[in-house]
This record gives sequence, structure tokens and C-alpha cells, in this order.
Amino acid sequence: MDTSMVPGDVARKFQCTVCCDYMQPPVLQCCNGHFICSICCLMLNLCPVCRIPLQNIRNMGIEIFANIIRLPCNYSKFGCAVPLLHTERREHEETCEYRLWGLLNDRVYANKPRTLQDLKDNISAEIRNITEETLQRVTANMQMRVEACLLENGGHFQHLL
Ligand SMILES: [Zn+2]
Ligand SMILES: [Zn+2]
Ligand SMILES: [Zn+2]
Repeated sequence: MDTSMVPGDVARKFQCTVCCDYMQPPVLQCCNGHFICSICCLMLNLCPVCRIPLQNIRNMGIEIFANIIRLPCNYSKFGCAVPLLHTERREHEETCEYRLWGLLNDRVYANKPRTLQDLKDNISAEIRNITEETLQRVTANMQMRVEACLLENGGHFQHLL
């Protein structure tokens, strides 16, 4: 199976227009064909794009694609380059090593630091708040990937999550 990431413009088409998460089956649509993720669909009565009433119409065609394509990790904006099948997403994102910065990023900027020293202080404080359990999970995940890489002599290996 193709293990490469779909191009960015294709990936964006798989983002729900409401919550911006990548859609995974079941994918629903309005009568005019606008996609919406099943979670947002539960909370909305009208299509967010064309404002017609939603009727829980599934789009099986897009679901076939959603089942086989690899989309970016939600922490790709922080540097993660792992291509994910939707079945792999949850487990990967829970232990993604970029999640740490993803989590820190918002908190570090929450009080809008004005100087470099303020920013440094915020980062130090937030790093001290990271739980040992989170660190253990991230480290174990990293170790697993490094070992897989060594086993294959640096060649391609099955995507590990
Ligand atoms: Zn959504
Ligand atoms: Zn619509
Ligand atoms: Zn990731």
C-alpha cells in the first residue's frame, strides 16, 4: 500500500469546514455535496456552507478515499511529518513527540509575553508542569521508532505509531 502523505491541497479538502479536524468515516454531506464530519453533523441543523437543513447523507465515495489515504498529523504545524491512516490517528497523536510543543505552545503564549525573558520564564514553568507519565509515553514511542529504523539499517520501515 502507498505509505506516502497526500499533497497538502488534497489533505485540506479532507478537513471539516467546521472543526478543521481531518474527516474520518462516516463522512456526511449536505444535499449540495458539502462535506462535514460526523461529530459536527451531530451538533448542527444547517449546512455551514450553504445553510440548507442537514439530513445525515453519507458520502461513501469520499469514505473509500478516507480509508486509504494518509493525512498529516494534527501536530504537523509543529513539525510532525508522519503520514497517518485515519485508523492510526488517535494512537499516534496521543504520543506524537510534537504534541508536547503543541500543548505548550498555547499555554506559553497565553499571557502574551512581551520580552524574551518572559517567554523563557513561561516555557520553563510549563515544562515543569509536564507530567512524568506524558514524558514516559513520548520517550517510549520515540525509542520504538529508533529501534525500527536501526533494524532496517536506516531504510524504510513500516509506519510505527
Ligand atoms: Zn467537524
Ligand atoms: Zn451545503
Ligand atoms: Zn505527529
